[in-house]
Amino acid sequence: MGKAIHITGVVQGVGFRPFVYNLARQHGLVGWVRNTSAGVDIRAEGTPEALQAFVAALTTEAPPLARIDSLTAQDTATEVYPAFEIQASAALEGAFQPISADIAICNNCLRELRDPADRRYRYPFINCTHCGPRFTLIKDIPYDRPLTTMADFPLCPDCAAEYHDPADRRFHAQPVACAACGPEVWLEQDGAPIHGDDALHRTVVLLQQGAIVAVKGLGGFHLACDATNPVAVAELRRRKGRAAKPFALMMADLDMIRQHCTVSEAEAKLLKSPASPIVLLNRRRGDTRIAPEVAPGQATLGVMLPYTPLHVLLLDEGVPPLVMTSGNLSEEPIVTDNAAARERLAGLADAFLMHNRDIHIRTDDSVMRAFEGGELPLRRSRGYAPYPVRLPFDLPPILAVGGELKNTFCLTRENYAFMSHHIGDMDNYETLRSFESGITHFERLFRITPEIIVYDLHPDYRATRYAQERAAAGIPAVVVQHHHAHIAAVMAEHGLTGERPVIGVCFDGTGYGTDGTIWGGEFLVADYAGFERPAYLKPVRLPGGDAATRKPARIGLSYLLASGVPPEDDLPPLVALSEKERHTVTIQSERGLNAPLTSSVGRLFDAVSALLDICQVATYEGQAAIELEAAVAPDEPGAYPFTMDGGQVDSAPAIQGVVVDWRAGVSPAVIAARFHNSVAAMIRDVCLELEARYGLHEVALSGGVFQNVTLLGKTLPLLREAGFTVYTHRLVPPNDGGLALGQAVIAGVRAASGK
Ligand code: ZN
Ligand code: ZN
Ligand code: FE
Repeated sequence: MGKAIHITGVVQGVGFRPFVYNLARQHGLVGWVRNTSAGVDIRAEGTPEALQAFVAALTTEAPPLARIDSLTAQDTATEVYPAFEIQASAALEGAFQPISADIAICNNCLRELRDPADRRYRYPFINCTHCGPRFTLIKDIPYDRPLTTMADFPLCPDCAAEYHDPADRRFHAQPVACAACGPEVWLEQDGAPIHGDDALHRTVVLLQQGAIVAVKGLGGFHLACDATNPVAVAELRRRKGRAAKPFALMMADLDMIRQHCTVSEAEAKLLKSPASPIVLLNRRRGDTRIAPEVAPGQATLGVMLPYTPLHVLLLDEGVPPLVMTSGNLSEEPIVTDNAAARERLAGLADAFLMHNRDIHIRTDDSVMRAFEGGELPLRRSRGYAPYPVRLPFDLPPILAVGGELKNTFCLTRENYAFMSHHIGDMDNYETLRSFESGITHFERLFRITPEIIVYDLHPDYRATRYAQERAAAGIPAVVVQHHHAHIAAVMAEHGLTGERPVIGVCFDGTGYGTDGTIWGGEFLVADYAGFERPAYLKPVRLPGGDAATRKPARIGLSYLLASGVPPEDDLPPLVALSEKERHTVTIQSERGLNAPLTSSVGRLFDAVSALLDICQVATYEGQAAIELEAAVAPDEPGAYPFTMDGGQVDSAPAIQGVVVDWRAGVSPAVIAARFHNSVAAMIRDVCLELEARYGLHEVALSGGVFQNVTLLGKTLPLLREAGFTVYTHRLVPPNDGGLALGQAVIAGVRAASGK
């Protein structure tokens, strides 16, 4: 008998046809496989048992870069084929194909890299159809070498033979190369550049001597230094102008990581996954070898494994754990090209490990946390973008421009939402340019001409201004409230159709509310079309506006005043503030002068962090809350009350409780734990009230506050015990990096309903 099989998803340029070819031969089948504009078609003939096993293995054994979205298999009349073969592709003109993300070096390439007998022994750009660069070097589709940054490297006869052999692992692997025909590395310091292996050896020596080396990687340059050398790490902080924000680390293997961090099974799986992200791991208590300057005030370290052959070669030489932070100044985008690196990283790096494979699109390392055995994305970029998020319905072509911080954008086509790589904070010219060129690139790559453009309600977001300019050129525009977008994002990634609203708990830093105040502690009853706001945290004054986020001490004082606690001199925020600052904050808070109201839970965490003297001055977004989470004592059951009055949830009793405990000498760790417990219980209590009122049993959690896995870990059991079904983020970040997904879906649903 025979089968006609059709497969869609990321199935081209990922070694799918050679995989099918070999699988069919293993099962003794005849027939053919070919790419079509809509995916991959297979015709297979053989015994029913063999066919059944073959069809099952197509998904279970698919190559690592493939993402199968659908597989249909229909019985056909028996035909006679001489063998199983790969047929020529149908033309792909104008067609649209999802594109693979960049993938960490595979085990086969790793073995060859370390095998002195292999012709690619120690070749820093070894790759195959199962691994290597994709997204970062593709200029246009169809995905063919001339349309990638490998166009300048003609294949040598040996590489060409592999490239054209259907049975070879490198069949149609566009970035395939070897030392004879491909890119090369060199080290630039003073004097003449050093090439090849010597460049790698010399880099290792420099790192061991405490130097800072700019290393060109997959999606941009890193700045590398010895993470066990406090002087080198402090110098890197000084040069980068980065006071306390933690640096990411790269370590040779899991064994080395386990010397410094605890690694669960889920975390090990994430570390070793083809995406190879930075994973936030709990630091081992008492580990003193990693310099404290790497991650001040943190209970975690962000660690990744070497994911390119170049990284493997460096780490194989027995170097200590390396700091591997983005090659940029402060919050500018990561540097990608050699000339820009020489110019912009000149004051940052002592030497440059360069190569001549161009990076077409910059991609930062992704950052993940493990939660409940799965992943919680904090930054979704390298290894994930541009894999689409699949939606439960088709949407028209929409461009959603995202938010101001941690920006990503989203383009939709059919039931795919293409979330961009991490763009960053839109407060500098370079990032804005990267945002604009990123949108142009995605529109061309996925053949999308937006028919709707959607942006945040905040009038001052730079992304909003970009959207308004394009809207002025004739694209219909849709405006979406920030926290509605967050909730829609988590609904969409779970495939909820939106026929029934959910209780959306959006705890966030800042977002523009429909009443012109700053929201961020919202209980919404929301579907895609709209939302109500039946409950929210009672607004508190934010003295000095957004600038206050850099001074948690000021926020602490404002919350004391709002909670009716006399601001006496013994309390840490008052100690931290000068006489003049205290006076200013008090006047601002009392009179509402340059002190907007906010319901933000992010600010509530800032206030408690200041009250416990954990963080009075923040040098990066979320620092006070992150350090508060790091302080939490495990197993502490106590909690403080919140009260609720007419939909306003009042944090005053909780603030009072914190102060009473602090004055009684209870440790900050215990108070931090009790505060987390209080917020979790408050979420449950408010959700129960809303359940009684609206008859809804599903809760969706989103917003930057839910990057806090300690809070998630306390909240989810309470909600589940109370009978709720809970949705949390798995595919896009709960922070503003996931915003664009929600914006797109809301705009699409509104357009469909004619609103
Ligand atoms: Zn490989
Ligand atoms: Zn070659
Ligand atoms: Fe937000």
